[in-house]
Amino acid sequence: MSSQQSLRRRAALAGAAILAVTVMTVVDARQAKDPQAIVNAAFEKFRGLKEGKNADYIPALAKVDPNLFGIALVTVDGKVFTAGDIKTEVSIQSISKVFTMAQVIEEQGVESIENRIGVDATGARFNSIIAIEGVRRVVGTGAPEMNALVNPGAISATSMVTGASADAVWGKIIGIHNAFAGRELRVLQDVYKSESDSNQRNQAIGALMFAYGYIKTDWRQAVDLYTRQSSIGDNARDLGMMAATLAAAGRNPVTGKTVMNPAKVPGVLAVMATAGLYDDSGKWLYHTGLPAKSGVGGGLIAVSPGKFGIAVVSPPLDDAGNSVRAQRAIAEISNALGGNPLASAGR
Ligand code: GLN
Repeated sequence: MSSQQSLRRRAALAGAAILAVTVMTVVDARQAKDPQAIVNAAFEKFRGLKEGKNADYIPALAKVDPNLFGIALVTVDGKVFTAGDIKTEVSIQSISKVFTMAQVIEEQGVESIENRIGVDATGARFNSIIAIEGVRRVVGTGAPEMNALVNPGAISATSMVTGASADAVWGKIIGIHNAFAGRELRVLQDVYKSESDSNQRNQAIGALMFAYGYIKTDWRQAVDLYTRQSSIGDNARDLGMMAATLAAAGRNPVTGKTVMNPAKVPGVLAVMATAGLYDDSGKWLYHTGLPAKSGVGGGLIAVSPGKFGIAVVSPPLDDAGNSVRAQRAIAEISNALGGNPLASAGR
């Protein structure tokens, strides 16, 4: 081979190598699934979506800016990817039910919630009174068919948190929320006042749950603390962190603190999968496979166990009371990241 031929050959080989590296980089980028790019793309795709309406049965919620839209994805190793407004706090509302249930399970074991309240879907709206009557038929059979993520079960779960005074109980409730979020949260007083002034339906639910033996302590205190926990303010980042702590088996991936016994986390996730989006929980699970929980303040958290937690804040809700944009954005992002735990190949 002449030296010129050998030079040409080496140049050709080098060219092929560069091409191969370029192709591999493109393929890798696609396979590596850049989470920030996926979060940004979902934000852009759904920011213009105008479907849904703010909750207005709690007057303060009707006043929240419907354009507020923030996404926070937090991996179990503590990486945070966000888009939009991740600073503005909304009231946590029903998402708080997850963490109060977690407190009871942590304190009193997984059977406590199962035996007193049940871990079954009601198939009814979150504040259904008919559902209570349905459950009543099986009281005494040892198989209550309710769950701690609809109002009657949640008010009952709040009543199960032990403490010598209302303040002592509250200390535990806010304590577990803070630990999951990794910072000190506060109650949004305007929401607390507005909901306290308009929560007669929840008072009726509390009274019924007491009458039927689910609540064994002062039901008025339980309803008040439930209303207070619903008014805790969180931004999208806080909610993403709380979801990620569940995804990381009870260890907050940013503070590094273990906030719940890992053996008790699957019970919490199971109830979220069954009832986290109320009577639309089946539809949600069908499309995402993710345990999740919504709140009428516009928040939605979802958990891909062992992978990530994700949260979206966007106030307009659909008829079932779940944030429209949050459902669309989380489904899109999780499916793009292979977050569905029911897909065995991780796709
Ligand atoms: N605090 C609200 C209520 O009791 C929570 C409802 C919700 O977020 N679905 O009505």
